[in-house]
Amino acid sequence: MTGRQEEEVYTSDSGSQFTEYWVDWFLGTKGNEYFCDIDEEYITDKFNLTGLYSEVDGVHLAIDLITDELKVDELTEEQTEQLESNARLLYGLIHARYIITTRGLQKMMDKYKKADFGYCSRVYCQLQHLLPVGLSDHMGVASVKLYCPKCEDLYNPKSSRHSLIDGAFFGTTFPGMFLQAYPQLVPAHPTDRYVPKVFGFHLHEYAKLARWQELQRLKLEKRLIDNGMKTLNTPNGYIYQEEESKRPQTEKE
Ligand SMILES: [Zn+2]
Repeated sequence: MTGRQEEEVYTSDSGSQFTEYWVDWFLGTKGNEYFCDIDEEYITDKFNLTGLYSEVDGVHLAIDLITDELKVDELTEEQTEQLESNARLLYGLIHARYIITTRGLQKMMDKYKKADFGYCSRVYCQLQHLLPVGLSDHMGVASVKLYCPKCEDLYNPKSSRHSLIDGAFFGTTFPGMFLQAYPQLVPAHPTDRYVPKVFGFHLHEYAKLARWQELQRLKLEKRLIDNGMKTLNTPNGYIYQEEESKRPQTEKE
């Protein structure tokens, strides 16, 4: 059995159990829901692969497999397994680069809108959609995490399948680039916070801490205003509005 056959078999519309395209098989495999499909022209453009030849073995063969240019029937079982594994790594590393291009950001926005990356589990975030992020751009450091643009914190994916995926396949830049490219998607930050109570009474120490945190928030807001950033108070909380001129330009393809 090859790695591909062991996992979910992609079923085409005709209902036959025949894997037609490698990318469709890869994206259809359980656990790979966070990935978007990369345009073939992006994968085959050598410029986009700079630096990946040292990270993945047999890049040329892996690309042929990803783009369905290779007949795996002619390879031994062991060779096929190795090649499949290289192709998955290569796809992941190209993916991290692709999702910060204009096209890639658009594809990830469609997935974000459908909540393909899940919802924030913090109560006051009210089912805010999440974005995938890596803690490192190098493989093998940490698995993929989820960023909530509302509470601005990181979460572990709920499914163990997702927690096995390398964070380098999404990279450290993606959520920042995404929210910069689509500032209208930056949500209002909720000011509601949970404060523990005992029989309805605030705990003295917690109440002190909550007051201190609120003070820090107000100080931060004042600093932002002093630095020329506008903060808008909305019924759901507050949002920052960066001046057009101060916002760095997003990468053009
Ligand atoms: Zn949140």
